[in-house]
Amino acid sequence: MSKFSTHNFNNQKALIRVDFNVPLDDQFNITDDTRIRAAIPTIKKILADGGSVILMSHLGRPKDGPTDKYSLKHLIPHLSKVLSTDVQFANDCIGEEAIQKSAALKPGQVLLLENLRFYKQEEKGDEAFAEKLSKLGDVYVNDAFGTAHRAHASTAIIAKFFTPENRMFGLLMEGEVSSAEKVLHNAENPFTAIIGGAKVSDKILIIENLLQRANNIIIGGGMAYTFLKALGKEIGSSLCELDKLDLANDILAKAKEKNVAIHLPVDSIVADKFAADANTKEVSNDNIETGWMGLDIGAKAVAQFTDVINNSKTILWNGPMGVFEMEKFQGGTKAVALAVAEATSKGAFSLVGGGDSVAAVNQFNLADKVSYVSTGGGAMLEYFEGKVLPGIAAIKE
Ligand code: AMP
Repeated sequence: MSKFSTHNFNNQKALIRVDFNVPLDDQFNITDDTRIRAAIPTIKKILADGGSVILMSHLGRPKDGPTDKYSLKHLIPHLSKVLSTDVQFANDCIGEEAIQKSAALKPGQVLLLENLRFYKQEEKGDEAFAEKLSKLGDVYVNDAFGTAHRAHASTAIIAKFFTPENRMFGLLMEGEVSSAEKVLHNAENPFTAIIGGAKVSDKILIIENLLQRANNIIIGGGMAYTFLKALGKEIGSSLCELDKLDLANDILAKAKEKNVAIHLPVDSIVADKFAADANTKEVSNDNIETGWMGLDIGAKAVAQFTDVINNSKTILWNGPMGVFEMEKFQGGTKAVALAVAEATSKGAFSLVGGGDSVAAVNQFNLADKVSYVSTGGGAMLEYFEGKVLPGIAAIKE
């Protein structure tokens, strides 16, 4: 049992760092409440134990202190609804009002603090600011995986003001950390990483770290063409980072040395322009004609990748195989999503993370057919790059 699940919050005030950085329209309606829903099990467990809850979060990137646009008060109606309880609000995350309202909380009550980023000290990781926040609760719970890669006051620095027994991950964070640790440190072989998306430059560090751990690395999406070009192939007008050709060759050489199989797509769906209504055809990746660009992997590549995925016991997927936002170029990403789901049903552990691959599994209704869908794009990427995430380290220290 986890530390959070076994902790009894009866009569305690839990100060929870959540990630309520949700998108709002110009009427302040929440357009996607995934992040709020993700924190509900943690909040409900504390309330059910007879504890009270103080929620703190950032919203957007306010530059000059308090701004109505970025006020967390806009979240109160929706939060009250999903929690089926009144949510109190403190107009400032520190100071008299926050102190009094948190001190007056009774078991079962919820208080939301104003946007942490109205103070510059939050992102600076200011100790005095973190200490002031820490005084509001008896127990610190970090449930904001999305900001775990930042050493901010409320995500990392604050932890030192609580004893090890009184600082812990919430349920969301526990799920994220244990799935990520399982893939990176306890992967059952064959371990296959599927890396896609637009640019090699964004994924270099993750590929380099995975070279130490994976058996197979499947490379798809726009970034595959830089590798194909490095191998001397004609790639037409496909995406290419000319300054990364040496690096691509270097990665291929290192993979050979370490006995990691790199799988590059053998064919593509090419288009005569980057548009939903482009003319398309399926061609071999040996020689893409001038004027045509690869916007998805082809049928042979789908078969090639599906075969590798089907024989895997651990799968990490970050980044789409093509421009899946356009219907004509979503076939490859969908086929890979189905293959990951199929492998999972046969007992593989699969972790999908990174904004676009998460959007893809959601779009194809496969989110509940993979083992874990990560909520933290940047945090997940940094974790798999092998970096220490301050939000995780601060709890574990
Ligand atoms: P990333 O954020 O690096 O994971 O990249 C995701 C983006 O890469 C998506 O918006 C895709 O449309 C885009 N993408 C994937 N494959 C290609 C491709 N072959 N050419 C251009 N863009 C692509």
